[in-house]
Amino acid sequence: MAKGVVIVVGAGIVGAACADACARAGYEVTVCEAAGIGGGATAAGMGHLVVMDDSEAQFALTDRSQRLWRTLAPKLPAAAEFASSGTIWVAADAEEMTAVEQKHAYYGERGIETTILDAAALAREEPNLRGGLAGGLLVASDCVVYPPVAAEFLLERSGATIKMGEPVVALGQGEVRFRSGAALQADVIVNAAGMAAGRLTPGLPIRARKGHLLITDRYPGWVRHQLVELGYLKSAHSQDGDSVAFNAQPRPTGQVLIGSSRQFGVTDAAVDRAMLARMLRRAEQYMPALAGLSAIRTWTGVRAATPDGLPLIGPAREDATVLVASGHEGLGITTALVTGELIAAILTGGASAIPPEPYLPTRFQETEAYGHHG
Ligand SMILES: Cc1cc2nc3c(=O)[nH]c(=O)nc-3n(C[C@H](O)[C@H](O)[C@H](O)COP(=O)(O)OP(=O)(O)OC[C@H]3O[C@@H](n4cnc5c(N)ncnc54)[C@H](O)[C@@H]3O)c2cc1C
Repeated sequence: MAKGVVIVVGAGIVGAACADACARAGYEVTVCEAAGIGGGATAAGMGHLVVMDDSEAQFALTDRSQRLWRTLAPKLPAAAEFASSGTIWVAADAEEMTAVEQKHAYYGERGIETTILDAAALAREEPNLRGGLAGGLLVASDCVVYPPVAAEFLLERSGATIKMGEPVVALGQGEVRFRSGAALQADVIVNAAGMAAGRLTPGLPIRARKGHLLITDRYPGWVRHQLVELGYLKSAHSQDGDSVAFNAQPRPTGQVLIGSSRQFGVTDAAVDRAMLARMLRRAEQYMPALAGLSAIRTWTGVRAATPDGLPLIGPAREDATVLVASGHEGLGITTALVTGELIAAILTGGASAIPPEPYLPTRFQETEAYGHHG
């Protein structure tokens, strides 16, 4: 017999991972999705499964989740395009090489092996990077996945009942209400509606952060690792203004996926030509020959950002029957699996692999919500 009934709202990668984890913990799960499986930010994301070190809490979350992804990898279908491509953090100058050394020490102390590349080694690994770069840090354990297929796989594996096509307009007090007026009851509701989570659970400090991506035609071997400029960290950290950073990913098809841009408070899906041009200029500063490749598609997506860059995972302030799983910003593909694990631990009262406190939505006072200062 099921331990109880859980409704998950949202079938992005986070909702799918939560559904899977709750089902495995013995709950009967229904997933309510307004549009399509993995069609929100999940469809737009780069799928880079990357361990990050902005803070101990971010490291713990990304490290645990990436380990879960690597354990899951052999079970994923081929269409999920899981690849152990590794990341090279590219250092442009001596100052960034200092950051490389610090990163190398930090990861090493925490059990992740990395390799410092000097200028010649970087050029050998990635011949299409421009000359004159200082070097880089190779993190061989980072990987890549195609997120919408991974979301489908997790949902299917969960055995959850899927209720598609009708938006949830309200949730709380053990009930989910649809636009038609129909309702479903549950012991616990997981709000995994991505950017829309803040509408369904008012007061969540979520703000939109739009991003652009571009994919080229097929050029097998042109890029071999996920390449990220160390300046990416400045772009990801900035809390206001628009920013771009060089980020390139080899797809198994031979295509090159190029990012990235960040714009706060912009939610429209239109490609912003000026922002795209700025993003590509930045990429060409690292890989000048990119200018000669043909692009076949550009698109945008919206990240759900929080004030401290960590997601919101756990009970909502006003209603303990609602567990929030949103606010994953640019790391939601990476951190989806650990989010499911944390939600299931909170649900069952069991121990979790990492401490849940840094991610609890209640860490924010209501006055800190973005909504309160525009
Ligand atoms: C350009 C870009 C690049 C990125 N690159 C990476 C990367 O390389 N690595 C990484 O880890 N992350 C990356 N991310 C971040 C990642 O894509 C997101 O953090 C992640 O997809 C969030 O997943 P989610 O399930 O929370 O949200 P979503 O995927 O948006 O899913 C939410 C779902 O809820 C549904 N929904 C919303 N409202 C309702 C409602 N009222 N009723 C029913 N259903 C509803 C939506 O239709 C949607 O399907 C990137 C994001 C962008 C935009």
